[in-house]
Parts: sequence; C-alpha cells; structure tokens
Amino acid sequence: MKYCPRCGTPLVVRPAFGRERQVCPACGFVHFYDPKVATCTVPEHDGRIVLVRRAIEPGYGKWTFPGGYMDQGETVEDAALRETQEETGLDVALTGLLGVYSFRDSPVVVIVYRARVLGGALRVMPECLDARAFRPDEIPWEELAFPSTRRALEDLLGRRTARGRD
Ligand SMILES: [Zn+2]
Repeated sequence: MKYCPRCGTPLVVRPAFGRERQVCPACGFVHFYDPKVATCTVPEHDGRIVLVRRAIEPGYGKWTFPGGYMDQGETVEDAALRETQEETGLDVALTGLLGVYSFRDSPVVVIVYRARVLGGALRVMPECLDARAFRPDEIPWEELAFPSTRRALEDLLGRRTARGRD
C-alpha cells in the first residue's frame, strides 16, 4: 500500500504498536497486515501418507498435503475437510492437531491436522498434477512445496534433516 486509504497522503514506515508499520503522517492511519490462514490435513491410510503434486503456483510441480485458505463463515476444521475433499476426493476425519506453522517472511499461518481416511477414492483433481499415498520412507523430501510442508511432515514422522529446521 502506497497511499493512505483514508486521506491519500503517502504512507511512511515508522514504529507503531510495537513494530515498524506503514503509518499515515497526516491522519494517523496505521496499516496492519493481517495474516492469511491456510488449513491442511495429512491423510493417513494403511500406514501411508497422501500427498498431492501442485498444478498451481506457488510450489508448482512440488508435493504437499491437501489444504488451502479458509473462508470467513467456516471453521478451520470445516475448511480442512473441504480442501481435502476438493484436492484428493477423499473423505477424512480429523484425528488431532499436528501443528501450527508460521514464518517471518510469509503472510500465511498454516494449521495442519492429522486425518484418517474414511472413504472416497484418491483422484487427481484439477488443482493437482498427481496424487499419491506414500510410505514414510518414500516421502519426496527434496520436492516438497513449502517450508511448512517439511516441518509438518518432520513433526509427523519425527524426522530431522541434516540441514536442520527451516
Ligand atoms: Zn491518512
């Protein structure tokens, strides 16, 4: 944002409410950057973990578990189930919170649930190039889409890589 949405004055960066923020020097407007919430599941079935290969940016061609942005008017859990259905064709039950992941250089808060597959059939949906159920030793660690993908799968499997945590 370049100009104050209230009075049109160019915004300046200065400390406000505990950190550097864009502030209007004329009317005092403060621009708060609200985070976005993404909610995901890691569907598990017969000891395997369902991942999808993204057909959209960011992370095109890379693997992650199903998920996406939640909408106002639904709960985090509703959104996790909806996104999982949309991206895999699977009906799942949430079995617990795996973790909440955020990074200083990203506006997204990623909430990840463990999930058990109840039914449906794993399909490659329009937002995906591929969908597969991986054994833990088959996880494509070098082709994961996001830092949160790696962190969550490490938390799930108790694995720590040589390069450490992102
Ligand atoms: Zn202003």
